[in-house]
Amino acid sequence: FLTLGIESSCDDSAVAVLRGQRDVAAELLSSQVESHAPYGGVIPEFAARMHLEAFLPLTEEVLRRAAVREPAKEIGLIAVTAGPGLMGSLLVGVMAAKALSLAWNVPLVAVNHLEGHMFANVVSFPELAPPFLCMIVSGGHTEIVLAEDFGRYVFLGGTRDDAAGEAYDKVAKVLGLPYPGGPAVDRLAASGNPGAFDFPVPMRGSSAGIVFSFSGLKTAAVTEIGRLRAEGKTVPVEDICASFQRAVVDSLVGKLALAVKRTGVKTVALSGGVAANSALRAALKEQRGWNVFLPPVNRCTDNAVMIAAAGCSAYLRGVRTPIDFAPDPSWELW
Ligand code: ATP
Ligand code: FE
Repeated sequence: FLTLGIESSCDDSAVAVLRGQRDVAAELLSSQVESHAPYGGVIPEFAARMHLEAFLPLTEEVLRRAAVREPAKEIGLIAVTAGPGLMGSLLVGVMAAKALSLAWNVPLVAVNHLEGHMFANVVSFPELAPPFLCMIVSGGHTEIVLAEDFGRYVFLGGTRDDAAGEAYDKVAKVLGLPYPGGPAVDRLAASGNPGAFDFPVPMRGSSAGIVFSFSGLKTAAVTEIGRLRAEGKTVPVEDICASFQRAVVDSLVGKLALAVKRTGVKTVALSGGVAANSALRAALKEQRGWNVFLPPVNRCTDNAVMIAAAGCSAYLRGVRTPIDFAPDPSWELW
């Protein structure tokens, strides 16, 4: 049973063929990072247009690499991201999926992008079974979810303002680092002093509950950089990165610990782009008594394998999506 997975929610066009629930037959990703880099962020109109150019050749090449000769006979399911994301970007992937579904007469399943991020773990670790906690930390989301079962998710808490990845990207931009900033800040932080700047850990302590806030921390870092520049001092980029990262990681791990305490669930999975962060991964590995799952770095950021896996799981649970569905840029999973 082969699933064709399609992802186009933001600035990566990705296509994959999954055999069964975990075996990747082929995958390809066309990143637009370089095209958006000069602007320091994703330009939605550009993104949609580039998806449009990318999808046909990408799909043809993935099918070739997966040795699929007669897709109408060999592909059993098409799974496509239908939200949340940028409307123009989502539309291109969804239209491609619908066209292929009609042409090949193959069923279609619309996948929530965040459930997809969670499935980066499922596809990598056969032993991961519900119930488990999943912390989704990405460019647009910072959320802790209890997966009671596949397809049954309870939202435990999230950010009241910026997502963690968004804060990384903003601090990196002010420091003049290349877009997207997360990986660059991560790299520089490794040779900095995390105690050099006393940036506050947002929402510290359990009384605030399971809630994140990264806007204040972001502003504290940006203000400090501005102050140093105004005083004509050299900005210790590594120390800023390390101190900022320390506060982010403390906040994320602290709230995850609170979620473990409240639910009694000690199986913990991480997902989303910021799950690639080396300090966050190291901090989670240190947690005693938790059973921690960290997907490989290339499965943390957007990819089509996770979408195919989430779609396949939904299909096996009986989920079917009618062909006339519309993408939803703010689709909530819970
Ligand atoms: P969403 O999934 O919420 O719709 P998205 O798909 O744009 O958002 P992802 O692709 O999951 O987000 O993640 C991208 C984010 O991850 C960016 O903000 C990027 O800076 C961040 N990121 C990637 N690698 C790292 C890293 N090593 N350290 C910190 N942040 C990172
Ligand atoms: Fe994403």
